[in-house]
Amino acid sequence: MIRDDDVPAWWQRLGLPGLIDIHTHFMPARVMVAVWRYFDAAEKHYGVAWPVHYRGSDAERVATLRALGVRRFTALVYPHKPGMAESLNAWARDFAAVTPDCVPSGKFFPEPSALRYVREAIDAGTGVFKVHVQVGGFDPRDELLDPVWGLLAEAGVPVVVHCGSGPLPGRHTGPGPFGAVLDAHPRLTAVIAHCGAPEFAEHLALAERHPNVHLDTTMVGTDFMNRLAPVPGDVVRRLGELRDRVVLGTDFPNIPYAFAEQLAALERFGLGDNWLRAVCWQNGARLLGSP
Ligand SMILES: [Zn+2]
Repeated sequence: MIRDDDVPAWWQRLGLPGLIDIHTHFMPARVMVAVWRYFDAAEKHYGVAWPVHYRGSDAERVATLRALGVRRFTALVYPHKPGMAESLNAWARDFAAVTPDCVPSGKFFPEPSALRYVREAIDAGTGVFKVHVQVGGFDPRDELLDPVWGLLAEAGVPVVVHCGSGPLPGRHTGPGPFGAVLDAHPRLTAVIAHCGAPEFAEHLALAERHPNVHLDTTMVGTDFMNRLAPVPGDVVRRLGELRDRVVLGTDFPNIPYAFAEQLAALERFGLGDNWLRAVCWQNGARLLGSP
């Protein structure tokens, strides 16, 4: 198993200039503390311990990513009630302004102001959005979101959507509700988080049906995740066929293991070096812009 110290040699061997990680979390300190408190009680919530591996300050966590060779990353936050998203978007823009390797990251919630503040965020340079269907507790088909999906589709700005039913199912999780959004907005550049775990096959089918739908690798194939949602062999084969639409994501820093374990998991799929190059660099560069 490679360790974090080995990560630069890992991507150098592939001839890459580094890594691009589309699924990382930075957020205002008080929000991050609340998230860590939730993971500290993970046995109660998820039935499994989830000791967050990377704590410390924003500066320390950014330095960790840079030492690993992550050249571009995101600051994904997901509001769970109305009235939060707009200020989080402003926070993420300020964070990216002083952290040039971080893509300005946005979010939204079904509320009457959503279309206005998403448009403003795009105009101000926001390069990726995040939606978490279970934590948000809303239906992605909510009529207040319909024009937002349309705007994102037209702008070609990627949106990372956690719609799988893991680690916890929600009223609107699973491939059905978000699949209906894709039927209404088939050009949407969506990135389905965690490959849609645990409904891998159904979410892969969405990517197979819609040419702008991607899947992020976040936690997929790691020993930790394999105990909760193992990846079927047929899914691995289909991930190989979708090479240009699978993109590296890790959930850094809120993972219960070292970053390097994600790379080891991808290598274990046995899909070859060209697949690893596409996933760990080329596809992320296409979605987020080349560093
Ligand atoms: Zn995440």
